[in-house]
Amino acid sequence: MGEDTATSRPAGCAFVTGASRGIGAAIARGLAADGWAVGIGYSSSVDAAKAVVAEIEAAGGRALALGGDIADRDRIDAHFTALEEAFGPVLVLVNNAGVRADGLAPQICDGDWDLVLDTNLTAAFRTTRRAVRPMLKARYGRIVNIASVVGLRANPGQSNYAASKAGLIAMTKTVAAEVARRGVTVNAVAPGLIETDMTADLNGDLLSAIPARRAGTPDEVAACVRFLASDAASYVTGSVLSVDGGMAA
Ligand code: NAP
Repeated sequence: MGEDTATSRPAGCAFVTGASRGIGAAIARGLAADGWAVGIGYSSSVDAAKAVVAEIEAAGGRALALGGDIADRDRIDAHFTALEEAFGPVLVLVNNAGVRADGLAPQICDGDWDLVLDTNLTAAFRTTRRAVRPMLKARYGRIVNIASVVGLRANPGQSNYAASKAGLIAMTKTVAAEVARRGVTVNAVAPGLIETDMTADLNGDLLSAIPARRAGTPDEVAACVRFLASDAASYVTGSVLSVDGGMAA
């Protein structure tokens, strides 16, 4: 039939965008603990990214910091080339870098629309496009896109962010169907309210909308990404895993 069912992991590395802090840093630490050499993507927090690299190395792992705007198309190829030279092909890609620029629809200017769509969706498409060919060649790959509960249900004031995350979910399902025969899986994780810098300005009123009555932690999101990146998840593809204390339910 031509389908691949092999699950053994070839040599290569993981690349986590936006891994200098928050959810991405937790994912990078987790993937390093699972034995992956990890590319630590960041925008401008060079010291924070270097601290994540140092932490991984102190624990016996390998990591490389890769800075600059992920929405800059030339930078993506440079990041992948650097990782290929250091650690071999990128076999796990976690599209985590993301930004918000909230406002009700009449208040969202073109710049804030473009910033959010370019960072959260277009960059994730470009990294995916760059990653897929070597994964198909290796007949092994894991792509995990960090979406949001807001890509699944309305949250007034976030039409740009919601559109980027809903687009990411649709892209996840479509690419998953394109590459499923070759041992490459593509999934999304949809966090709810997670305690990071991104949500530091949100007030406690939101907690009443969460059945679990608490915010989640970056490690709780990372645990799900580690599962989707593992051999154990070889038959999970095109799925959206909510990590939201019941918000989407
Ligand atoms: P965060 O604490 O604000 O961290 C954002 C990370 O993305 C940082 O590493 C940042 O790098 C990087 N980044 C931002 N813009 C970038 C760009 N243009 N190029 C390269 N890197 C860039 O965010 P977080 O809360 O951990 O969120 C991570 C992901 O989860 C995002 O996609 C977010 O939408 C999603 N999410 C978060 C929540 C939540 O409640 N926190 C809920 C649902 C979904 P620097 O440090 O260099 O700025």
